[in-house]
Amino acid sequence: MTTEIQTEIQAEVERRRNFAIISHPDAGKTTLTEKLLLYGGAIHEAGAVKVRKAQRHATSDWMAMEQQRGISITSTVLQFEYNNCQINLLDTPGHQDFSEDTYRTLAAADNAVMLEDAAKGLEPQTRKLFEVCKMRSLPIFTFINKMDRPGREPLELLDEIEKELGLKTYPVNWPIGMGDRFKGVYDRRKKQIHLFERSAHGSREALDTVLDLGDPRIEEFLDQDLYYQLKEELELLEEVGSELNFDEIHSGKMTPVFFGSAMTNFGVKLFLDSFLDYALKPGSHLSTLGDMPPEYHEFTGFVFKLQANMDAKHRDRVAFVRVCTGKFEKDMTVNHARTGKVIRLSRPQKLFAQERQSIEIAYPGDVIGLNNPGVFAIGDTIYMGKKLEYEGIPCFSPELFAYLKNPNPSKFKQFHKGVSELREEGAVQIMFSADESKRDPILAAVGQLQFEVVQFRLQNEYGAETLLDPLPYSVARWVTGGWDALNQVGRIFNAAVVKDSWNRPVLLFKNDWNCRQAEGDHPELKLSSIAPVVS
Ligand code: GDP
Repeated sequence: MTTEIQTEIQAEVERRRNFAIISHPDAGKTTLTEKLLLYGGAIHEAGAVKVRKAQRHATSDWMAMEQQRGISITSTVLQFEYNNCQINLLDTPGHQDFSEDTYRTLAAADNAVMLEDAAKGLEPQTRKLFEVCKMRSLPIFTFINKMDRPGREPLELLDEIEKELGLKTYPVNWPIGMGDRFKGVYDRRKKQIHLFERSAHGSREALDTVLDLGDPRIEEFLDQDLYYQLKEELELLEEVGSELNFDEIHSGKMTPVFFGSAMTNFGVKLFLDSFLDYALKPGSHLSTLGDMPPEYHEFTGFVFKLQANMDAKHRDRVAFVRVCTGKFEKDMTVNHARTGKVIRLSRPQKLFAQERQSIEIAYPGDVIGLNNPGVFAIGDTIYMGKKLEYEGIPCFSPELFAYLKNPNPSKFKQFHKGVSELREEGAVQIMFSADESKRDPILAAVGQLQFEVVQFRLQNEYGAETLLDPLPYSVARWVTGGWDALNQVGRIFNAAVVKDSWNRPVLLFKNDWNCRQAEGDHPELKLSSIAPVVS
């Protein structure tokens, strides 16, 4: 029997779409985000979000670090309504110095938008983030940006995605011209040509002339050569391209592709419209009670990210929770699965850019920010009703390693407390040398920024000054069979043996080549770039 509350939750799930953007720095993520907000009616003029961000930075000394570096450490959740849909954009940190949070955010996302620069195609950070999406079989929507500048041939870009990522492609729209001659796109859904006009810096929605393919007025608007080229390319797509297949899109095997220019707003609205139709709604999540459908009547969720000191005045921490099932209401009292504690969630928040607003209710697919009195760790489950725990979030392969030293013996306690708390919080991974004589913890991170944040916070919050002694490794592999498996193979050349915080063996290599060599020399050794989830 469906209860009233389940009907309500179902209706809310039906109109929710949640996604994260994966891209390489400079591909245009900030620009596209702004334009999505512009079309979503959340802002009225592009540029507003950045301005707001800048003001916010000035009020916080933690943010001063971001400002100095001109980067965004924090990630926010942007929520807006469009066509009666509630869209949640989980904003991943955007700089090259990205951190594990970038990966973790994908654990809370139902869809990913892969943003490419048309001149560059696939870039390293996008590839790494794609691997995480692939692991979770997330649907991936590709937006090929900057078509207003000279770029690579559209067909070549599709080919690269097919060959290098093993994803089938289905272009939903097709560009008409490129660079100075980029006139618009052809929408294959409605079989219509959209010709755009550029507005100053694209701060307003682009004017759009819509024509059917056979419309005689096309000649007035479009040079003949562009029109013939378009027709030829469309015929080619029909002949050799894949057919649209929703099952394949939803299981992450096929990517719908869109061409456009975020800066000039070309193709942004068409993208948003198709995305709403094609994207996955919030779905079920695997737990100790089995697969939990979103309309399960009790509220449950998991912590995917912790953020410290977003507001210097409060010196607080915020735990970001992905709502998986049920309905969340302010002042709810929930259970914390790992510790068995009962917690009243009295000050829930949602975040719009850097601004906090308190929330009253939330549904599956939403993200809520909870003030964290030190209870929450990454991957923790909170629940109402019957006890359950979600799968947890794995540790991702770190690429930077350094001994962390405490030069001041009188600060021994503060140093260890800080290191242990920052590890629990998920700010960085901590490993130790297998050689017992080396007692200093090894910081293991996916981005340089994590080191800086850890050192900064140890000094600021724990009063512990630290020194870093970098290690020359860039690849980490967990030994799947544990110590027994490792001991059986004997010495491995060009590898350092360390243990993670759960005393599991990890091999560190200087480069991929050494890693592959070890795998070749010891085929019986099973190595994994992602640590098993600790439950
Ligand atoms: P992010 O690092 O991915 O967030 O990239 P930004 O949104 O900050 O964009 C990087 C640069 O590319 C900025 O100078 C943007 O103005 C520019 N840019 C973004 N989108 C477009 C586009 O569609 N066309 C052109 N020509 N430039 C763009």
